[in-house]
Amino acid sequence: MAKIKMKNPIVEMDGDEMTRIMWKMVKDRLLAPYVDLNLEYFDLGLERRDQTDDQITIAAGKATMKHKVAVKCATITPDADRVKEYGLKQQWKSPNGTIRAMLDGTVFRCPILAKNIKPTVRSWTKPIVIGRHAYGDIYRNAEIRIPAAGKVEMIYTPAEGDQAKRVVVHEFKGPGVVMGMHNLDDSITSFARASFTYALDRKIDVIFSCKDTISKTYHARFRSIFRDVYDREFQDRFKAAGIDYMYTLIDDAVARIMKSEGGMLWALCNYDGDVMSDMVASSFGSLAMMTSDLISPHGYFEYEAAHGTVKRHYYMHKKGEKTSTNSMALIFAWTGALSKRGQLDGDTALVDFATRLEKAGIDTIESGVMTKDLIPFADPRPERHVLTEEFIEEIGKKLDALV
Ligand code: NAP
Ligand code: MG
Repeated sequence: MAKIKMKNPIVEMDGDEMTRIMWKMVKDRLLAPYVDLNLEYFDLGLERRDQTDDQITIAAGKATMKHKVAVKCATITPDADRVKEYGLKQQWKSPNGTIRAMLDGTVFRCPILAKNIKPTVRSWTKPIVIGRHAYGDIYRNAEIRIPAAGKVEMIYTPAEGDQAKRVVVHEFKGPGVVMGMHNLDDSITSFARASFTYALDRKIDVIFSCKDTISKTYHARFRSIFRDVYDREFQDRFKAAGIDYMYTLIDDAVARIMKSEGGMLWALCNYDGDVMSDMVASSFGSLAMMTSDLISPHGYFEYEAAHGTVKRHYYMHKKGEKTSTNSMALIFAWTGALSKRGQLDGDTALVDFATRLEKAGIDTIESGVMTKDLIPFADPRPERHVLTEEFIEEIGKKLDALV
């Protein structure tokens, strides 16, 4: 078969540790032989970020704004230990945080399903995608430890005109704690837009849930912005696609989701999304079976695996030991990007290739060939697990039969 040509480039962001090792294996065995890869490469590995004073991350973000589609390997977010380990100039910020701030995106976590990998929640036969709002709430709060009796008030002082507004939070009779949170109409609107855009792309229903019966101003604002954005911008397209939007209280949503078969996007406020994404991910098995798609309301798309750099496996690898590390989420990050590139360019050959590669990956697992992380979730349970490179080679053989 002749190699598929790509019309426009994908921005490629390389990363760290075990995912960097697998990144190359995936490219060499599963992509380069079939596609004439048109990539704009940025090395976001920690050494390179340190050498460039993290300018490489900014450059990768800018390139994504130019070319619209990016694929990213997992990267180390340095803590004090990493500063020592790598002799860093400083504790560089999370590349994901930097890029997300540039693209103004929302992250959607989507599980990859195989028939023989059984979710803990048995009714979940279709993926549940979690959309987590990535701004504000407790992640940007102000807190005070109250040492003794006294009054706490919340005061809003308008930048111009008008009188200040104040509300009493609590009249403390003794020690306690207090917290102030905020959010922004613009950010909530972007989040709603990104959620509806993602669902339309995947043709799945949307549920948004919070607690507006209790939080009649704060959560109510989220509910009403979601409703407005839906009514004004998405209702017609949702009808045409045969999908729905529903708001429901968070506790009702939890009950519904647990009993559902899945197959929806569940949009959640920042804290709820943090918690629920880990719950959903653990039910679907391994972190290595979960992708993380960043969708920006400005039409930028960035795809990556939900897991980190798999440090423990990398240290084994460095010692010359064999690992059984699962490359599915990395592969699906690539197929997400290739497929989106194909869609944007009207390039069906590229979209078809991405679909085949995904099928080859799932077929491999369904044929009982899998890495160690999946074994506890597998039914039937295979006798042995395969090594990192064996797994990729098996997918390659399946792919050869499909292209
Ligand atoms: P991790 O990479 O998410 O891995 C945690 C554990 O999950 C692994 O030790 C392994 O369990 C299992 N696991 C994750 N991915 C796997 C895979 N593909 N195949 C098989 N098992 C897998 O977290 P970490 O090792 O604690 O974090 C390492 C670095 O990742 C940190 O420096 C952090 O900053 C970075 N990080 C980056 C991103 C990102 O770029 N998106 C996200 C999260 C973390 P076992 O050890 O039990 O086998
Ligand atoms: Mg969490």
